[in-house]
Amino acid sequence: MLTMINRFINYSHQSIRAARYIGQSFMITLSHANRLPVTIQYPYEKLITSERLRGRIHFEFDKCIACEVCVRVCPINLPVVDWKLESEIRKKRLFNYSIDFGICIFCGNCVEYCPTNCLSMTEEYELSTYDRHELNYNQIALARLPMRVIDDYTIRTILTSTN
Ligand code: SF4
Ligand code: SF4
Repeated sequence: MLTMINRFINYSHQSIRAARYIGQSFMITLSHANRLPVTIQYPYEKLITSERLRGRIHFEFDKCIACEVCVRVCPINLPVVDWKLESEIRKKRLFNYSIDFGICIFCGNCVEYCPTNCLSMTEEYELSTYDRHELNYNQIALARLPMRVIDDYTIRTILTSTN
């Protein structure tokens, strides 16, 4: 008889504990009910990027003096600066400039140290491609300005609290 009573008490305690856990989890569920979803329906919705986003680099050919500072400050010596010294005018002539975004770590050193500010970081982050060699941007690809997210009327833009 005593064993039966003990079992009944144990069972009651376990039932009360289980009911408390269910109640707690239900309260947590309820507390999330009036929150907005964290995820967005990309690519139909896009976040407005931060002004300091380190996206794809933009390059202005006319401003570049081929000093190669960007190469020296790059942790992987990535930018390729193709120039020739014009002896008559004692000046470097720039022919080609390229950055391979398949290798770039977007540290921003080249942008920060360029003496003529011909490099800048854009808000473009959609660089996926089927062929990684397509990520090697020459001066023409680097000169393209990306469309700003807020100017794209085909999508819905979302402002985050971190902006
Ligand atoms: S640091 Fe600037 S100016 Fe010098 S080579 Fe690089 S991009 Fe051109
Ligand atoms: S962002 Fe960094 S890794 Fe990329 S090219 Fe510039 S210095 Fe090199």
